[in-house]
Amino acid sequence: MDEIRIRGLDVFAHHGVFPEETRLGQHFIVNAVLYTDTRRAGLTDALEETTNYGEVCQEITRFLQDHTWKLLEAAAEHTAQHILQRFPLLSAVDLEIEKPQAPIGLPFDTVSVKIHRGWHRAYMALGSNLGDKRGYIQDALEGLRQNPQMRVGRCSTLISTAPYGGVEQDDFLNGAVELDTLLTPWELLDELHRLEQLAGRVRKIHWGPRTLDLDILLYDNEIIRSQDLTIPHPDMTNRAFVLEPMAEIAPDVLHPVLHRTMAELLDELRERESC
Ligand code: ATP
Ligand code: CA
Ligand code: CA
Repeated sequence: MDEIRIRGLDVFAHHGVFPEETRLGQHFIVNAVLYTDTRRAGLTDALEETTNYGEVCQEITRFLQDHTWKLLEAAAEHTAQHILQRFPLLSAVDLEIEKPQAPIGLPFDTVSVKIHRGWHRAYMALGSNLGDKRGYIQDALEGLRQNPQMRVGRCSTLISTAPYGGVEQDDFLNGAVELDTLLTPWELLDELHRLEQLAGRVRKIHWGPRTLDLDILLYDNEIIRSQDLTIPHPDMTNRAFVLEPMAEIAPDVLHPVLHRTMAELLDELRERESC
């Protein structure tokens, strides 16, 4: 990925743990690497094809001056998030905030916090088989859209499918959605649980009826096997109601463990089912 680099942006602001720091203010030095594809701007020489680093500097300055945080960690976290939300062509950012006048009481050059943050591409399965199924799924998509840490991309057609897992219940409405998010996988899972709860979901029987079920299918190329989270979703390759919508919105996306595309996985499942 190409980079636009900003070094030594001097911002007078009021962050710090001590009351004098928030009252008097001090200099903060910002270094940033903006990760973005500069190819089109390079070929066309057009400013609108790239991210204007002048605007980024203005925005960082304004944002750090409009807020007061105790910790450099918080200043860096919020500023990185703000820049990624404000400038749509950026896929990631390295942000370092130095505090050369930090009240340490010893001779030192500078102290800083440096972080790397960026957008992650995730795919999620959507399901409902109770009440206003389409309404619950649409509300969930709306809930995701309202979150500034999410950008909802392609959404599949919703398909009606017979229930899975042997529990006697109404048909499901299923689909899949593409999502770019600033959240970590665990934060995303928490957000999905929150939306399930907003839909009034009660967890009674495993694979039983539910107003809303949101599963993380893929998150970048990450492979996670922890007690509360497994990515890629362990059963996705056995479920036509997951692979059909995925083959619609992301046919060429690779499963990071099996190295097969969604379209191939669907074909293979259909072959297995026809045997
Ligand atoms: P299945 O995961 O087989 O589709 P389910 O969706 O009915 O079953 P739930 O009761 O909704 O299962 O979820 C149980 C737990 O599964 C969640 O609380 C969560 O901690 C865990 N889980 C593990 N991996 C994932 C994932 N990729 N997406 C969502 N939940 C997951
Ligand atoms: Ca599920
Ligand atoms: Ca689930």
